[in-house]
Amino acid sequence: MIYLDNAATTPLTDPVFKKMTEVMALQLANPSSIHAHGRLANQKLREYRQTIADLLNTSANHIIFTSGGTESNNTAIKGYALAHQDQGKHLITTAIEHHSVLHTVEYLEKQFGFEVTYIKPVNGVIRTADVVAALRPDTILVSMMYANNETGDLLPIAEVGKMLEQHPAAFHVDAVQVAGKIALEPEKLGIDFLSLSAHKFHGPKGVGVLYQNQQHFDPLLHGGEQENKHRASTENLIGIAGMVQALQDSCDKLSDNWAHVTSLANLFLKELSGLDYYLNSSEDALPHVLNIGFPNANNSVLLTQLDLQGYSVSTGSACTAGTVDPSHVLAAKYGQESHRLKESIRISFSELNTPEEVTGLAHLLQSLLGEN
Ligand code: PLP
Repeated sequence: MIYLDNAATTPLTDPVFKKMTEVMALQLANPSSIHAHGRLANQKLREYRQTIADLLNTSANHIIFTSGGTESNNTAIKGYALAHQDQGKHLITTAIEHHSVLHTVEYLEKQFGFEVTYIKPVNGVIRTADVVAALRPDTILVSMMYANNETGDLLPIAEVGKMLEQHPAAFHVDAVQVAGKIALEPEKLGIDFLSLSAHKFHGPKGVGVLYQNQQHFDPLLHGGEQENKHRASTENLIGIAGMVQALQDSCDKLSDNWAHVTSLANLFLKELSGLDYYLNSSEDALPHVLNIGFPNANNSVLLTQLDLQGYSVSTGSACTAGTVDPSHVLAAKYGQESHRLKESIRISFSELNTPEEVTGLAHLLQSLLGEN
C-alpha cells in the first residue's frame, strides 16, 4: 500500500518510534509528583520543553503542550477572546481555515455574540491589504493559518504580523501544516499564539504545542496547575518525547526534505504528461501538497479506484474524510458551483515517499483517466 496523504497525517519515522519506546520503558512517573520519581519525570519534561523552545527560537515559558492542533487552536482563540471580550468583540479570520478554527469562531459568534470577519481569497490568494482593511478599533484577535491543508497555499503571515504592530489585536497562527517544513520563529514574526501538531511532522497523534507570548488567556481545561496553569491534565510524556524527536529531526533536514518533496511533485507532474489536469494551489504554496483536478472526473469515484489499487490520497481535509464533503477551501477560492470541487483530489508527499511511488500513481491515473 502506498501512502500519499501526508497532509492528513504522517507515519512515525524509525527514530521517533525508537525514542517513544525508550521513554515508555522508563515508566516515568507523574511530573507533578514531588517525590524522586516525579522529579525525574519533571526533569524530562523540562528538557523536552526546552528543546521545543530552542527549535522555535523562544524561551521555555512560552511553550504549552497540548493534545494537538485542534486543542491549540481552540485554546488560543476561545481562551484569548473570552479573556479580552471587554476590549472588543470583533475577530478576523479567513474563509479557508481548518474547521478547528472556523467552528471555534462560529461558536464564539453564536454563544457569546462575537462578530467575525472572514477574509476571502481574491484571485486565489489571501491578501494582507484585506486583513488590514478589516481591522477595527474593537478587533481583539486575528487568526490565520500559515499554510492551507488542502492546497498548501502559503498565507502572508510575516506581512500581517508586521501590520499588526500598529494595532492592539493579538495574532494567532495555525502553523500545523508548516511545522517541520519551514523554520518557525514566532517572536520575529509578531505572532502571539502559534499552533503545532506532532502528527503532521512524523510525530505521534494526539500531541501538539501552543506557543504563547504570555498574553493573558483563559485555559480550555480546568482541574490542575500543569503547564503553568494554562492547561490542566497530566502531561503525555511519551507523546511529547516523540514529538520533540520528530520536530528536531525535521528541522535538521528542512532543506533536504523540501528538495525531496519538490522533486517528487515535479516527477509526478512530468509522468502525468499527456493527461488533462489543472492545479488548485497558488504559486506560493508548500511543495508537498498537490491539489489537482481532472476535467470531468468524479473525485469520490477516483479516490475509491485509487484506494482499490493500494494508493491512499484524499480530497482535502482529513477531518471531513470518510465522507467526501465539498471542499470549503476550493469553494472559497473558486466558488461554490465550481466544477473543481467535484474533480479535484489532494496528493501529499513526505520525506518517506519514493520516486517509484509517485511514478506508480501517475501511471495509474493515466490508465484510469487517459481515455477521458
Ligand atoms: N489545523 C490544520 C491546518 C490542520 O491541517 C489540522 C489537521 O488536519 C489541524 C489544525 C488539526 O490538528 P489535529 O489533528 O492535531 O487536531
